[in-house]
Amino acid sequence: MGGFGSGKQGGKRCTNDMLALDVRSINRAGRLTPGSWFTWQWTRTDEITSSVQIQVETDSVVLDYRNRSNHHGSGEWEQMRYTVALCRTPCGFGGERVWWRCPAVGCGRRVAVLYGGRVFACRQCNHLAYASQREADDDRATRRADTIRRRLGWEPGILNGKGLKPKGMHWRTFERLEASHDFHVNAALAGMAVKLGLLGERLDMIDFPH
Ligand SMILES: [Zn+2]
Repeated sequence: MGGFGSGKQGGKRCTNDMLALDVRSINRAGRLTPGSWFTWQWTRTDEITSSVQIQVETDSVVLDYRNRSNHHGSGEWEQMRYTVALCRTPCGFGGERVWWRCPAVGCGRRVAVLYGGRVFACRQCNHLAYASQREADDDRATRRADTIRRRLGWEPGILNGKGLKPKGMHWRTFERLEASHDFHVNAALAGMAVKLGLLGERLDMIDFPH
């Protein structure tokens, strides 16, 4: 999990840790010649961290790259290859502006920057994916806390207070379970705060003092 993001966007995911594929930079570099291909690279302190091979067609490009299957970057390599449509709009004095069409299923938004991820998609699609992932994480934290509550004989529901040590349970076992319970409750409550916009508001106040 990438944390709560920069906070400036009200708790949305910070896109800094993702690769940005900006069609304006690619166009400015003169790379959008149909029938050609090139490699677009991202570097950090002079080292190439990621690269994508891009095949240019008339109204689209084909992205070709390998992706590590889990977000910690330690999983299996997976070969990715798919088409991203381009669209052009006129802009003053006979010029034109080039855009991506977000390739995510059911999206197709016209955007200048795609973010990857396993798949390059627009900012909104990435937020949706992140929100549903976070939802799943919150639910899991709640379920884990409830499992421990059952074991301790406490009233179910993480918003109910804590109970006592069950008779006959070792203190060490109890303390370990209690710590684990508190950890999962905190994770679930933090997720709830983000959902309700509470954390976003608090971070906004820190970022932009009045
Ligand atoms: Zn999209």
